[in-house]
Amino acid sequence: MKVKKLFLVAGIVLLVVAANACRKQEDTSGTAAIKKADLLKVGVKADVPGFGFFNTSTNQYEGLEIEIAGLLAAEILGDAGKIKFEPVTAKTRGPLLDNGELDMIIATFTITDERKLTYNFSTPYYTDAVGMLVKKSSGIGSLADLDGKTVGVAQSATSREAIDAAAKRIGVTLKFSEYATYPEIKAALDSGRVDVFSVDKSILNGYLDGESVILPDEFSPQPYGVTTKLSNKPLADYVDSLIQKWLSDGTIVALVERFRL
Ligand code: GLU
Repeated sequence: MKVKKLFLVAGIVLLVVAANACRKQEDTSGTAAIKKADLLKVGVKADVPGFGFFNTSTNQYEGLEIEIAGLLAAEILGDAGKIKFEPVTAKTRGPLLDNGELDMIIATFTITDERKLTYNFSTPYYTDAVGMLVKKSSGIGSLADLDGKTVGVAQSATSREAIDAAAKRIGVTLKFSEYATYPEIKAALDSGRVDVFSVDKSILNGYLDGESVILPDEFSPQPYGVTTKLSNKPLADYVDSLIQKWLSDGTIVALVERFRL
């Protein structure tokens, strides 16, 4: 009897050890929570053509960042369709990742040294630059024409620092107005409250119309990375290894060509 009991206890201990080992194995990619939900929750842009854009005629998101999200869902969940896309802005994306509502952000999120202290970023899948949108009727042709002018920028974006540094280098002094969203900046440009709308060129493309033009000037490279929580290093490493693979095997180049970026 005693021997039987001993075997029973030993058996239970073995089972627990084995179960723990399995759990640990699953967690090496940091995807346990995503697998449990059987859904990948991704923050994307809805207004950046070719990157993250909500097409109102098809009711679908489209663009490079949407495709990358699909590839990640296929790897993690075996199904590119198991995604919930959540539209984000420069201001909302960080908090939505912090509070656990989203698993990752793939939304023109520029990798900076400062942001690396708060989030994990993958290797860049694309690099853009900061540009300027002006009204054709303004006669503004470059940064040199902007002395004393007002630049509309988004809160929590890299744009203000980038354009201000470039202006200072050529002795131009700028004023700034900060807005929460891009439609607000475009409205301010249209009504003359700001002289320039400055952000990444990819984003400006979504606001270009017959009355406006994107100037040839560009400042500060903007490398975009898949952004994950700082606390989940295994997920960041796993995502990064996949991005690196898709960069080297031509997958991302093909997508960049497909969306004409
Ligand atoms: N890419 C820039 C940034 O991360 C512009 C803001 C945005 O992505 O909306 O700050």
